[in-house]
Amino acid sequence: MRLALDNVTVSYQRHPAVHHVSGGFAMGEATAIFGPNGAGKSTLLKAMVGALKPDQGKVTMEGMSRKDIAYLPQQSEIDRSLPVTVLELVATGLWHQSGPFGKLGRPGMGRALDALEQVGLADFAPRTIAALSSGQFQRVLFARILLQDARVILLDEPFNAMDAKTTHDLLQLVKRWQQEGRTVIAVLHDEEQVRQYFPHTLLLAREVVAWGDTRNVLTVDKLRRAVETAAHWQARAPICQTEGVEA
Ligand code: ADP
Ligand code: MG
Repeated sequence: MRLALDNVTVSYQRHPAVHHVSGGFAMGEATAIFGPNGAGKSTLLKAMVGALKPDQGKVTMEGMSRKDIAYLPQQSEIDRSLPVTVLELVATGLWHQSGPFGKLGRPGMGRALDALEQVGLADFAPRTIAALSSGQFQRVLFARILLQDARVILLDEPFNAMDAKTTHDLLQLVKRWQQEGRTVIAVLHDEEQVRQYFPHTLLLAREVVAWGDTRNVLTVDKLRRAVETAAHWQARAPICQTEGVEA
């Protein structure tokens, strides 16, 4: 199984957000994606799940397909006004088996309930998702990932604005996924979390600043270089061709 980026460039209105990124993810292990705001971290994950199309290069998958990837977007990108219950949302994790209009039946519902139980929210099954706190909602999204049973799990800032208990509990799931041999790739902002739970790090500032063992990547020098590179990109706002004017 292989998941790699081959010279991937992704742009918005011709402004590259991710620029010529190449490298392979360590399979069966955990990699953190680290970098300043606006470094292209979310954009890279979206390209990996096929939500954005690279304008150059490609995401290479060998021995796996998109169905093997579970993806948790940044919470700010999720519409919580949908009139669905907690159990229904978790059950969408089985869509790759049942199809969006397929019937889940009792076994499916049982598995969804079991996943909710594992994140400590079994009692919340019949509630609407709008009634949850952000920490509870994140637990529900983790339950959905549990149900998906994917070999590769992508998480975009999963612990952002989470309380300490939620962060701790969800980190235990990440640890378990690693022990089960799954590949976890997570955008994180907390250096300590990265050092403790993620043996590999991709340090991104639109381009790859460093990619390898966390100890060798999260050095003072490289972190400084990431900030400088990101600022450089921000300042010159490059564009591929003169077309349209952007702030
Ligand atoms: P990160 O997740 O590292 O904070 P993003 O991938 O969200 O970074 O963004 C990278 C760059 O792309 C930023 O300059 C951001 O403003 C820009 N960008 C992100 N999403 C869009 C979009 N939908 N339209 C235009 N520009 C975007
Ligand atoms: Mg982001």
